[in-house]
Amino acid sequence: MIKTIFVDLDDVLCDWLKAITVATGKDISIHNGSLELTGAELWSFRERQLGGRQAILDIMEDPEFWINLEKFPWSDSLVETMSQHYEVALLSKASNIPDAAFGKMVWQQRHYPHIPLVLCEDKGLVAAPGKFLIDDDLKQCVSFERHGGRTWLFSSSLELKAKTREQQSAYIDNILANIEAIK
Ligand SMILES: [Mg+2]
Repeated sequence: MIKTIFVDLDDVLCDWLKAITVATGKDISIHNGSLELTGAELWSFRERQLGGRQAILDIMEDPEFWINLEKFPWSDSLVETMSQHYEVALLSKASNIPDAAFGKMVWQQRHYPHIPLVLCEDKGLVAAPGKFLIDDDLKQCVSFERHGGRTWLFSSSLELKAKTREQQSAYIDNILANIEAIK
């Protein structure tokens, strides 16, 4: 029986991909949601595309980058739907960048001040039976399950954005149905 739902921020509730595309002027969207890649592999790929780790860090060390991330059309619905049935918390990685952590906290206060925010590098650290993670990072899902939690590997945000509002709602309803089916 699930009691707590953790919801990832980047590319689940906020449009990191769009922001990094705008900030760098490079379209890396085609490789987003490549579920065959682990989180580390995807990062390595993106680093090469964007001109190295420092090029990404220069963007990510600006708190404004995080504060200004846009919500998706489904974000409020996802949080509200889960909140009606479960205790909900936001769970995000700040990649050991203090300014990113600050920016994420401001973003949470701006958009979901009533939902707690947990920041940790390895999301498996907060996993346990009865806890559920919705995340687009396969590596985090694997770690969370290894520590006794259950997960939903979230769709590519790019693919979900291309769908109709009805299809997006159906996708969220499907996540809820799967969580409710867990005994
Ligand atoms: Mg994510």
